[in-house]
Amino acid sequence: MKKEYKDKLMWAAQNKAELSSLNNKLKKTKPNKLDEVAHRSHDNAFKKIDCLQCANCCKTISPAIYERDIDRLAKHLRIKPSAFIDAYLLKDEVGDYVMKSQPCPFLDSENYCMVYESRPTACREYPHTDRKRFFQLLDLSLKNTEICPAVADVFQELKKVYS
Ligand code: SF4
Ligand code: SF4
Repeated sequence: MKKEYKDKLMWAAQNKAELSSLNNKLKKTKPNKLDEVAHRSHDNAFKKIDCLQCANCCKTISPAIYERDIDRLAKHLRIKPSAFIDAYLLKDEVGDYVMKSQPCPFLDSENYCMVYESRPTACREYPHTDRKRFFQLLDLSLKNTEICPAVADVFQELKKVYS
């Protein structure tokens, strides 16, 4: 990962307590323009950050993988869904399927996703900072400041606007 991206994660780690209080405040007050601010920060963050220079999500966490994802991925790989489950998945503590191993087995050495057109929905939507009703994703996003430099950037902007 580029140093510049590592620095963003480090900034979030160093400001963890402050970001956590900000997160609690935003959950309580649900500011009207929170979606607007988060979405604008998300777009700005991804103008500067190139996922191919990072891939930290694919390297360190697994998406939740649902039945439709399994069917699509199994079809892509031309194997049966049951064979896909046996080869790649296990159930997490809440009963969702996740990848057996990290980095994701479909991440290649240049950070490309080898199943890109068939990747799980959660991969398509990560890091979720452009979703509607963002206040519902605040806890998850706070956790993602440890993984995704773009989310760290979004929190940096939230801190500027709402602290
Ligand atoms: S979504 Fe975030 S963690 Fe994943 S590759 Fe892009 S910048 Fe990195
Ligand atoms: S399926 Fe592709 S996008 Fe999803 S975690 Fe694996 S490599 Fe990353």
